[in-house]
Amino acid sequence: MFTVTRQRQFPDGENVVEVSAGGLDYTNPDALGAKYAGEFEEFADPREAVETAIQIVRDWRKDSRSRVSIGVGSTLGMTLPFSPDTFAHARAWAKQAWESLEKCAGCGKPLPDSRKRWHENDWDGLEYCCESCATRAAEFEAEEQAKFEAEESSSNS
Ligand SMILES: [Zn+2]
Repeated sequence: MFTVTRQRQFPDGENVVEVSAGGLDYTNPDALGAKYAGEFEEFADPREAVETAIQIVRDWRKDSRSRVSIGVGSTLGMTLPFSPDTFAHARAWAKQAWESLEKCAGCGKPLPDSRKRWHENDWDGLEYCCESCATRAAEFEAEEQAKFEAEESSSNS
């Protein structure tokens, strides 16, 4: 999960829209109240979180007529203000974060916490994000197996 919050950093008063790795519990404390779409939302895709944050930076700049930056990173559950970054750096960070996420073997979306993952069987080690992805994979396999068996029997006859 990735969360977007607006912060007025202590002690220099820097306005930063922060994208933090982790859910709401992993954002820096004392975030400003939600004003723009996407604040306090938990994103599965870091790229989506960063694009949302960039839009908030632009809107907040317009509304406040003051310096606003983007910041990305991980607090690891502590208080750790992110240093202001360029949009290009934030996007590169998001791309890298996206690539390092484990994905569902069915739909390719990021997998949830390990205890919420689904398995189609006990042997192939493939993990799915939800029951429907796991079921679909099982059905596909059963179909392939049936096709294979049909071919086997027709070539044997
Ligand atoms: Zn899936």
